[in-house]
Amino acid sequence: MAEGAPTPKKKPVTVMQDRLKGYQSRLIDISPDNPHLSLTRAYVCAFAIIAALTIAGHLVVSYTTSKQKEDAEITFGMTTMRSLIDIGVSNASSYKASGKPFDGRMLADTLKRLKDQRALLKSYNDSDVNAMFADKPYLLDTRMDEFVRSAEDFASYRSTDKFEEFGDEFSNLTRTVSKTFSINLDQAIEQYHENVTAQIAWSHRLQYFTALIVLSVLMLEAIYIFRPLVLRLSAYSKELIRLALEDELTGLKNRRAVMQMANAEISRFSRTGKPFAVVLCDLDKFKSVNDTYGHKVGDLVLKHYAKLMTNSLRGYDVIGRFGGEEFVIMLPQTEPEKALAIINRFRETVANTPCPYVDKQDKQQLLKFTSSFGIAAVTAHKPVSLDTLLIRADECLYEAKEKGRNCAIMVVLADVPAAAPITPPPGEVPV
Ligand code: GH3
Ligand code: MG
Ligand code: MG
Repeated sequence: MAEGAPTPKKKPVTVMQDRLKGYQSRLIDISPDNPHLSLTRAYVCAFAIIAALTIAGHLVVSYTTSKQKEDAEITFGMTTMRSLIDIGVSNASSYKASGKPFDGRMLADTLKRLKDQRALLKSYNDSDVNAMFADKPYLLDTRMDEFVRSAEDFASYRSTDKFEEFGDEFSNLTRTVSKTFSINLDQAIEQYHENVTAQIAWSHRLQYFTALIVLSVLMLEAIYIFRPLVLRLSAYSKELIRLALEDELTGLKNRRAVMQMANAEISRFSRTGKPFAVVLCDLDKFKSVNDTYGHKVGDLVLKHYAKLMTNSLRGYDVIGRFGGEEFVIMLPQTEPEKALAIINRFRETVANTPCPYVDKQDKQQLLKFTSSFGIAAVTAHKPVSLDTLLIRADECLYEAKEKGRNCAIMVVLADVPAAAPITPPPGEVPV
């Protein structure tokens, strides 16, 4: 890019994706300087949101339930009032129809029940209901007071009174006042029902909305907390397995891992009879490397040696550090002669590839070193234990050291009982 050219602006979606990736990688980062805080914080936040929403949802449900109960009681109370108007009118009319002397007690009782019902409705302290009683357009208080007054006027006539003498009061009560009151009360009941239906629909929507948010938070929690948690756990377990099976200094397999793989190879051999070899490698005079150049350079040499092993041997050969300056190689499906050739080639590579290091004067130097090898090759199709193989390889390694180091000695465990070590012809450089 030309110098000074403006960096191209990232798309918002790309920015979002980058942020999410960063967030996730922070969550699954298991390095010691990331002490689980982001994951814990995210979990606590999600938990708090879910708890708050669950409580809110519960409150909405209990509000809706109690509102529905109260609304049913109020509707019932208003309908009862509506019936009491009819009963009052009927009390008065029955007198007219019967022509008998009027007994005002029934009407008085109806009026008392009407007043009680009104008091009960007002005790709910419902703003809608109170407004219907006090304000326009229903003015239920005014209408009811008119009705009660008119009914009390009518009832005030004694039973001996004749109907003709209070016909005006009768028609006022039954035709005018009761009708206005009934119509207003009917309209108020209808209006109240509409209000309640709207309120309940609203609280149902609120319930759905809360449930939707809880589900969304749970989903986000699954994606951004539980998934990273699982990834983190699997990263931990991979790391633990790596630490359990890997040598820290060289990065090669450690003794345990090599032993596992060697045992697997032995099992395969007992099934298939395919030959293989176990090789013990030991750096020559390594103590003097440490003594002369220091422990750090010694470590460098060990790493350098491990790298040479990785680069020089075949991909399917198993290599590992057995401990100290001792290494082990498993050559699967390899005939003894081939095993010896491979190891000798590697031995020469080691001898010809000195290890670079920086000396005390900060100068680049090269340190030549060699190593010796003991090989136990197996061709016999009969049970053989790893312990036996290691003992035989160690004996060969000891012999290689005895013969002057920088050489490989092999023993072949064949069907023929004789397992003679292969030694170099006299006067030749040992193989
Ligand atoms: P030989 O040729 O007989 O094998 O002689 P050697 O000096 O290699 O054998 P010896 O067993 O006497 O010494 C091995 C040395 O390896 C001693 C020890 O300090 C060194 N050593 C073991 N592990 C490490 C390590 O991890 N780092 C370093 N720098 N040195 C190590
Ligand atoms: Mg040693
Ligand atoms: Mg040694």
